[in-house]
Amino acid sequence: MGIKTVYEDCDVLVVGGGMGGTGAAYEARYWGRDMKVVIAEKANIDRSGAVAQGLYAINCYMGTQWGENNPEDHVRYARNDLMGMVREDLAFDMARHVDSAVHKFEEWGLPFMKSTETGRYLREGKWQIMIHGESYKPIVANAARKSADKIYNRIMVTHLLMDESRDNRVGGAVGFNCRTGDFHVFRAKAVIVAAGGASHIFKPRSVGEGMGRTWYAPWSSGSAYALAIQAGAKMTQMENRIVLCRFKDGYGPVGAYFLHLKTYTQNAYGNEYESTWYDDTKSMVGEYIDHHPTPTCLRNHAFIQEVKAGRGPIHMVTTEAFQDPHLEEVGWENFLGMTVSQAVVWASQDIDPKYINPELTTSEPYVMGSHATCSGAWCSGPEDLSPEEYFWGYNRMMTVDGLFGAGDAVGGTAHAFSSGSFTEGRLAAKAAVKYVKDLMGETINVTDKQIEDLKETIFQPLDNYTIGRNEIVGGTVSPSYLLPIQGLQRLEKVMDEYVGGISVNYMTNDKLLERGIELLDTMEEDFEHIGAEDLHQLMRAWELKHRLLSSQSVAQHTLFREETRWPGYYYRGDHMKLDDENWHCLTLSRRDPETGDWAMEKAPVYHIVD
Ligand SMILES: Cc1cc2nc3c(=O)[nH]c(=O)nc-3n(C[C@H](O)[C@H](O)[C@H](O)COP(=O)(O)OP(=O)(O)OC[C@H]3O[C@@H](n4cnc5c(N)ncnc54)[C@H](O)[C@@H]3O)c2cc1C
Repeated sequence: MGIKTVYEDCDVLVVGGGMGGTGAAYEARYWGRDMKVVIAEKANIDRSGAVAQGLYAINCYMGTQWGENNPEDHVRYARNDLMGMVREDLAFDMARHVDSAVHKFEEWGLPFMKSTETGRYLREGKWQIMIHGESYKPIVANAARKSADKIYNRIMVTHLLMDESRDNRVGGAVGFNCRTGDFHVFRAKAVIVAAGGASHIFKPRSVGEGMGRTWYAPWSSGSAYALAIQAGAKMTQMENRIVLCRFKDGYGPVGAYFLHLKTYTQNAYGNEYESTWYDDTKSMVGEYIDHHPTPTCLRNHAFIQEVKAGRGPIHMVTTEAFQDPHLEEVGWENFLGMTVSQAVVWASQDIDPKYINPELTTSEPYVMGSHATCSGAWCSGPEDLSPEEYFWGYNRMMTVDGLFGAGDAVGGTAHAFSSGSFTEGRLAAKAAVKYVKDLMGETINVTDKQIEDLKETIFQPLDNYTIGRNEIVGGTVSPSYLLPIQGLQRLEKVMDEYVGGISVNYMTNDKLLERGIELLDTMEEDFEHIGAEDLHQLMRAWELKHRLLSSQSVAQHTLFREETRWPGYYYRGDHMKLDDENWHCLTLSRRDPETGDWAMEKAPVYHIVD
């Protein structure tokens, strides 16, 4: 085929150098001084992942040194927000270590805002601390660069390799360089997947010329889930997608506005509306609506109902707070360090929030394991905390031996955010190093056949295009191939209409899901005919295939959970109530890598913290 193959043998391979991946590389070096640690990253770790543009707040910091919060408080908080459903062992484990990761960030030069009264980190809310965070990602990347033996930027990892000398054990990963087209083979004893969450699986609100604008990073292509699913790892809570209330069109975040600026929402007629929906919500979820703070999905529910009732749009009342010049500055800076496009949208639409209350909207759904939801791989917890069903030897190891996860990749740990993802990377790496040491020099066996077969599969879209292009003289519609963008729009439409996206007000049911799953399965066949014009489109082709697998998983999980656990994130029209009697549990899936069949099961939710 004329494609160059580059081999790299290492002990620990980190797939994705975002927050989880940089934390993993840093910690792997600490525990594995004599080990070879390698990162393979799709972009460039200096500006990759969901924190690429910077952040204005670190959303997960306990402040235990000052007696502000304890890890158990955070578990209670995350559990409440997720309507009871988190892996409390993983959540506690992350929370008890997160402060030390944040202290490292400060040591490495990240500027923190401090309270002039107490000298402590300036709080935005109970869990959030404020930073001048434009340089957040380059700073953690620097720590990873000093720790890893080698960093391969621009490598799209497409598949994991499996060890052929033992069942169910990982043997590394393969991918290609998006710039040179070289085929990369990483043979590794342990692999830590930290490849981020999934945007663009549901049709976004911004389509056409605005299509690249989504809330979660548009390059988060569900690789973390697809790589694990392809390898036969169990997934959990994939139905638990998130819908966010954000400033309209720019998806600007609202956290600093609610928490620090104390702005509030109202309907188009200037009225408070959440109380209007109290009885309605109570009839669906019972006493959960009386919890404090109100779970995010339930606040979304009131928003969605109010708009459906014809009293939208919902506005954020900024005109009061913005009279204070300091708060006005914070309001704008919040975007400039994190979501510049929101400031640009307001400027272009003549919205000065000092005089006009800007519109809010609810986003399309996203899937992730680190933000306020907890989809991802089913991982072992730490040995000192986890009950039997949650523990199989190594912290953050998936159900495939030697395969670990961090950040969005790991299911069950909601509200980890940037700092918690970095911390999870550290925890996974510590365990991965121990795993490699415990192998006592045992080698892994990956045959040339496995590698050659994958090589052919990976580059197939380039051939599809080259051959199929001859059948047309102009335009983009070919009888023989689908372009990645065409495939993406088909995927988003099916997920939107059948699996509970924006155009159906997040509503679905068993019949819609069954049909949606059929359509997704057909798409799997069709996507064998994706045509890639160049290496960039080859990356898009593989992102699409990863998005499809993630979507299939979301649809299967959504069908399995026969209740509406999170109104405001999605609704099962055939089961409109929360059902604690039958569904106070976690959902698990496994896709058989040989047959492609999905098996679903329930797993207990253990409340480790009272
Ligand atoms: C708009 C927005 C606002 C946020 N606000 C906050 C906030 O205020 N405070 C806070 O603490 N957190 C915030 N977060 C959350 C935080 O960014 C995430 O929790 C965190 O980045 C998740 O870490 P991760 O390592 O799982 O994923 P990421 O940091 O996204 O890293 C994933 C990495 O994997 C790479 N990758 C993907 N696919 C592949 C592949 N196939 N092969 C190789 N590499 C691949 C990506 O390029 C990326 O570098 C926000 C996120 C977003 C998007």
